[in-house]
Amino acid sequence: MAAIDIIKRRLKEDRVSDVPEEIGEKKKRPREVAFMDMNLCFPCGKCPEFCPVQCIEYLAPNTLPGRGVQPVQDRFQECIGCYICVEVCSLLTDYDPIRMYE
Ligand code: SF4
Ligand code: SF4
Repeated sequence: MAAIDIIKRRLKEDRVSDVPEEIGEKKKRPREVAFMDMNLCFPCGKCPEFCPVQCIEYLAPNTLPGRGVQPVQDRFQECIGCYICVEVCSLLTDYDPIRMYE
């Protein structure tokens, strides 16, 4: 049995929509989108792993001089406002760098 089927069965309801045949531009704008405070992001590198649309990336080297590993920032035009990065960051770090803006 595929992993997705096991998760669906455990949830006892189909909360995961079927994947569309074609993936295009998002049709509905999210109520809020995420922004990361570059000065507060450590960065632990966890939220990019969990973002469902993979719109979080590390800043280019030397964007913030004096920082070795650069912090992360999202491409907010692609953010779907799912709050997963907020939850991941608050669960795994003490830095609280992610804010959701309308
Ligand atoms: S709110 Fe969701 S889609 Fe937007 S950056 Fe965070 S994890 Fe990605
Ligand atoms: S989870 Fe938080 S601290 Fe870690 S990379 Fe993402 S924004 Fe930065």
